[in-house]
Amino acid sequence: MTRTPPYRDQFRAAVDTVRQEGRYRIFRDIRRKKGAFPCATWFKDDLKEQDITVWCSNDYLGMGQNECVVEAVKSAVDAAGTGSGGTRNISGTTRYHVQLEAELADLHGKDASLVFTSGYVANEAALSTMSKILPGLHILSDEMNHASMISGIRNARTHKHIFAHNDIADLEAKLKAIPVDAPKLIAFESVYSMDADIAPIEAICDLADTYNALTYIDEVHAVGMYGPRGGGICEQRALMDRIDIIQGTLAKAYGMIGGYIAADKVIVDAIRSLASGFIFTTSIPPSTAAGALRSVRILKISPEMRDQHQDRANALKARFRSAGYPFIDGDTHIVPLMVGDPVKCQAISDRLIEDYGIYAQPINFPTVPRGTERLRFTPSPFHTDAMMDELMAALSDVWAAYDLPREKVA
Ligand code: PMP
Repeated sequence: MTRTPPYRDQFRAAVDTVRQEGRYRIFRDIRRKKGAFPCATWFKDDLKEQDITVWCSNDYLGMGQNECVVEAVKSAVDAAGTGSGGTRNISGTTRYHVQLEAELADLHGKDASLVFTSGYVANEAALSTMSKILPGLHILSDEMNHASMISGIRNARTHKHIFAHNDIADLEAKLKAIPVDAPKLIAFESVYSMDADIAPIEAICDLADTYNALTYIDEVHAVGMYGPRGGGICEQRALMDRIDIIQGTLAKAYGMIGGYIAADKVIVDAIRSLASGFIFTTSIPPSTAAGALRSVRILKISPEMRDQHQDRANALKARFRSAGYPFIDGDTHIVPLMVGDPVKCQAISDRLIEDYGIYAQPINFPTVPRGTERLRFTPSPFHTDAMMDELMAALSDVWAAYDLPREKVA
């Protein structure tokens, strides 16, 4: 007989709390269809399947289904098999990894880059290692930074200062209070993925110059999508050389999996040599590196994809604006529709998928603060006007059914 695990009731109670707060997570079981992005099939249960349109994918440009990327993955599997067979140090560095790192370094105008198993791991491993290199380090972190940065900073076990979101005056006050000769690092994002806003990067770089601080930027929601070659917001604003460490992902615009940092070769060498999250884990499969390499190369020379992406995001924002929905009308491709209640947010998402085949996952605490629950729409170059019309018709019904207001977000 299987043994009953000790403390089982406590596990159940923990989940019950989450459920009572209306933020129990239901994973939609979907099958993506190559060549039909953003259309997919939803398996409601073992008996019922339904065609849906996905409105919340982070495969922002549909590169996960791009013919050339798929071919690159297939031919690498044929040539090299599946897994990499080891950590980077012990047989897990392949030609594909080496070429991918050279390509990413070039993308960001840096000497070197380092690929990790995910964007999360890249942030956690790189940031937690900084204090081994710089004893007494002070890390200044934007209050809205992603969980992976927070975890890395926490694990650095050094001085940390949280500055108000995008608040230059607060950042400066905190920098000023740190002893002049103490090492400092400012960690922030370019595009904040839940609020769809962009950091004042240039002003942060100015402060970094004044106070002699390293700059570390997470461009996870910008690489591939912004800048003449997809080098992110820093490339778009000609600021790449003012940022010391640029972090990105291969899992969103590039449609694969994996994360990276790009920086001066001495910095990359130090992180490569000391970061546990890099050293003690198997490297990404050669085929993943091959697919990512192809994807980065394609997007370097595809400004029309970026234009089309922005065009579609603008089209959705224009529709939301004229219908008077409370959405965050930012400068990015992310369109958050504010609901402000976890139970209603889940219910609206349920109605949209069940009655209209429209998939928008509810975003609840702790991903966003309580009371700011939302549906986060991420239109891609492949979301047509007809799909937008369907979405607007469905939203109109569901919004009214839950008696939600139509007023602008302040
Ligand atoms: N940084 C930010 C800002 C993110 O939103 C995410 C994932 N959503 C990550 C890092 C982690 O990236 P990955 O999904 O590649 O692990």
